[in-house]
Amino acid sequence: MNIDTTRPMRLRFAPSPTGFLHLGGARTALFNWLLAKKHNGTFILRIEDTDAERSTEESTGQILDSLQWLGIQWDEGPFFQSQRLEHYREHIDRLYKEGKIYPAFESPEELEAERERALAEKRNPIYNRASLKLPKEEVERRLAEGMRFVWRFKVPDEGYTDVPETLMSGAADCRFENAAMGDFVISRAGTLKEPGWPLYNFCCVVDDALMGITHVIRGQEHLSNAARQVLLYKAFDYPVPTFTHLPLIMKNNKKMSKRDKDADPAFPVSVSGRRELGYLQEATINFISLLGCSYPMEEEIFPVDVLIRNFDLNRLQKSNANFDEDKYLFQNSWYIKNLPRESVVERVVPFIEAAGYDWESAAPVSRDAYKWLGDIVALEVERCKLLSEFPAALSYFFVAPTSYDARGVQKIFHGEGVPELLDAVAEALLLTNPFTKDAMEASLRSLGDTRGLGFGKVAQPVRLAVTGRTASPGLFEVLEALGREEVIRRLINAKEWLQSNPKA
Ligand code: GLU
Repeated sequence: MNIDTTRPMRLRFAPSPTGFLHLGGARTALFNWLLAKKHNGTFILRIEDTDAERSTEESTGQILDSLQWLGIQWDEGPFFQSQRLEHYREHIDRLYKEGKIYPAFESPEELEAERERALAEKRNPIYNRASLKLPKEEVERRLAEGMRFVWRFKVPDEGYTDVPETLMSGAADCRFENAAMGDFVISRAGTLKEPGWPLYNFCCVVDDALMGITHVIRGQEHLSNAARQVLLYKAFDYPVPTFTHLPLIMKNNKKMSKRDKDADPAFPVSVSGRRELGYLQEATINFISLLGCSYPMEEEIFPVDVLIRNFDLNRLQKSNANFDEDKYLFQNSWYIKNLPRESVVERVVPFIEAAGYDWESAAPVSRDAYKWLGDIVALEVERCKLLSEFPAALSYFFVAPTSYDARGVQKIFHGEGVPELLDAVAEALLLTNPFTKDAMEASLRSLGDTRGLGFGKVAQPVRLAVTGRTASPGLFEVLEALGREEVIRRLINAKEWLQSNPKA
């Protein structure tokens, strides 16, 4: 289907604030935003909070935060449906006056009993229009008496409703038989004096029409709603937007649902959960942009402006998208390695602080603390795939080891003459000038040579002594970052530790 670009494009994201922003919801928001950006259109944020029992301010706050963090900035809104009741009432009045909706008085129990009867008789269990058949006077009497009712939309008895769909155009999936649809409810139960709140399908159409929405991109679960919505647009004589219902997102062959909770702390489904784990905004946008969309670029890593230029409804896939954790992690590590270093450091800081490390005091007095932090972060960008991995990876820079890797103690510290070697290294480093990695390497190599020790035999105990670990980034980079005083202190500490913890 060709995309109508004659009207200025107006798109929206319309989350219900009943939980956090799910990665799938973020994809929906992103695709709407990308299309708006590409065509210089407008992107609107609308909070669908008419379900007072399930909507919370907390989740509204979380959704806004997550969108802002992702950089999906709205041009208009946020609009709150809970503040737009007058528009819905006005539209209900209009349809009632035109005889397009009617009050239906059945209680939920009566409807259930009728449903079961229909199923037992192998009929489609749609509403039987009992209230539509009541005499006018009876309806008026009931309304005046304050009897509770819901509004139902009178669906045409015949014909089909076609949903203008870009992804499934022409498919039988987009054609809905009116007779099978049933007169659907557009408001919760209420009385004339205390009307019930209008429901999703109704509010959505009124808002999309009043907000001039031209294109709706949303999850596949709304396709059957779209048929009802098209009937409402037609009833109001409003232009029908073009719909795109995105295929599902599957992970390990299971459907990811917006109702999924963050059950697995390692793989949260919420944007905020991923953020807390140290997934980057850029990686998250990059990753979700690929969920069900293919681009002409060869690589799968691209900045958002390239994405905007290349996004196209015709590039969306009809098949379900595969959520590949390894790909997400790979992209995250790519951005950690390749983003401007300052930008990574800035984002690592909150993780280091949340882990309780005082990096400012840990920096050598002779160094600018922030630059120093940048240097040590640089030592780990190749290894850390998540921002949250930095504190543990760098912990020994902030706190001197008080214990040492057990296997290292056995294999390295308990070798011949290690306490004495640590002393000699401390002495050599005290005299190494400047205290740079090249100069240190030269000193320790010559120290090894004089003692007939291979380089590893010198480097391993030193690494264990200063980091507490058997593996680290380049030893001399680490020593240089720690600074002479700290290195010597740690070598002496390790020697003393060894003396008080001799080989059993
Ligand atoms: N509030 C609906 C949801 O969160 C919006 C559906 C739509 O975009 O029309 O699923």
